[in-house]
Amino acid sequence: MDTIGHYIDGKERDGSSGRWTDVYNPALGAPCARVALADGADVDAAVAAAAAAFPAWAATPPLARARVLFQYLQLCQQHTDAFAELVVREHGKTLADARGEVARGIEVVEFAVGIPQLLKGEFTDQIARGIDAWSMRQPLGVVAGITPFNFPVMVPMWMFPVAIACGNTFVLKPSERDPSPALLHARLLREAGLPDGVFNVVQGDKAAVDALLDHPDVAALSFVGSTPIAEYVHARGTAGGKRVQALGGAKNHMVVMPDADMEMAVDALVGAAFGSAGERCMAISVAVAVGDAADALVAQLAARTAALRIGDGACEGVDMGPVVTKAAQQRIEKLIGEGVEQGATLVVDGRGYRVPGREDGFFVGGTLFDHVHPEMSIYREEIFGPVLCVVRLPDVGSALELINRNEYGNGVAVFTRDGGTAREFVRQVEVGMVGVNVPLPVPMAFNSFGGWKRSLFGDHHAYGPEGVRFYTRHKAVMQRWPNTASAGAEFAFPQMK
Ligand code: NAD
Repeated sequence: MDTIGHYIDGKERDGSSGRWTDVYNPALGAPCARVALADGADVDAAVAAAAAAFPAWAATPPLARARVLFQYLQLCQQHTDAFAELVVREHGKTLADARGEVARGIEVVEFAVGIPQLLKGEFTDQIARGIDAWSMRQPLGVVAGITPFNFPVMVPMWMFPVAIACGNTFVLKPSERDPSPALLHARLLREAGLPDGVFNVVQGDKAAVDALLDHPDVAALSFVGSTPIAEYVHARGTAGGKRVQALGGAKNHMVVMPDADMEMAVDALVGAAFGSAGERCMAISVAVAVGDAADALVAQLAARTAALRIGDGACEGVDMGPVVTKAAQQRIEKLIGEGVEQGATLVVDGRGYRVPGREDGFFVGGTLFDHVHPEMSIYREEIFGPVLCVVRLPDVGSALELINRNEYGNGVAVFTRDGGTAREFVRQVEVGMVGVNVPLPVPMAFNSFGGWKRSLFGDHHAYGPEGVRFYTRHKAVMQRWPNTASAGAEFAFPQMK
């Protein structure tokens, strides 16, 4: 069985803790590798390597840093299939979906090679007689990234290309469920010419996260994962004086107005609810059917949900793979049971789904509930599985009220032909990313990604211009040269003359 270790100061190593955990192929329901779990000493070694590499990397001209990332970009393009195959093996999503994940990650590298443009400051000539002023943005130092299982290639790429292009050095702690892509990133960055110590990987669990949170030499920390852990990471990291952005979980609604193009809405819902087995932070898990949209919508969704092609993501012709672990499968099935007990109408039941030849795989069939109410646990909890809940409401006002009351605010969509309805919806909804007839409004790399409310703790969204702001500090400079006459000692605030 493969063993997966850390990457510290340009070298792969097993680490000092002696702790390991199994990595599963979810389609087979069997271990495919073992991953090291870091202790404090491993984290200290990674942070020390990153701290030692920082001064030279920060002093490297931005264009020279960008050129390393340009080499890495080309290597990522060449290794798209290698990344995608690792994702399919350890995560379970389909090969086509995994390739899409890699492509979206590469877009952030494309953005990062242009970062010298965003690091330019602003200059003002002659703010007073003989005095000029300018601003500049400088890197923070060692920054860390802690990432979830559901995008093991892309979510780390939301962070380190931007951080490194800005002159920081980086320690990545990927999910222990699918840790291999992080090492492929490390190998390709080394091949691209990145100096040792600029990018490091510590594999691990809570022990590694806590060691990063408490390390005095970690200046900033980006986290993506579930809301309880995001809140914990933000609280503990900021208490220690770090800059923290922590992106959390979600419960994303899609409102279908009676005037919507029903075929378009159904296609959008099926893809957004069941793509990647619902294990996306932007997945639509609640369809809000307004007025008489409901009956037609539920009838079409029922047929499409029952017809989903479910299987091993490595095989051709599969719409949706397994969920990530046995525990996730059991938790999702338990929540489906609670939906039934609490009075929702179970239209398509995905419990007990078996794939021939993959009998031990962690599969859950597509599941559709109708007549879901906000107090039910299937509405309140982020299920993170292939379960779509339909809530019926009379008008767009009550849909907005429902969505704005929800504790999460990651993504939302409205499907309508009415421009006025769409415009008011966009203005009034309290959610960070909004789609109009677009179910998954994931911003491009040159914009920024982030939710509101309990979907994001901290002030900055991820990647794009917000990412550059997060990974740099603003400095204001004023300068005068001795060839201007001194006004003598000034004891009062100087005033412009
Ligand atoms: P998770 O919170 O369980 O794990 C995320 C990271 O935190 C992992 O690296 C994990 O090792 C670490 N971790 C887990 N438990 C910890 C603990 N007790 N203390 C410290 N660290 C801990 O999340 P997950 O199951 O890997 O990923 C799914 C979640 O991530 C979902 O809630 C999903 O919505 C969310 N997510 C959000 C976004 C976003 O952009 N908002 C994107 C992707 C995923």
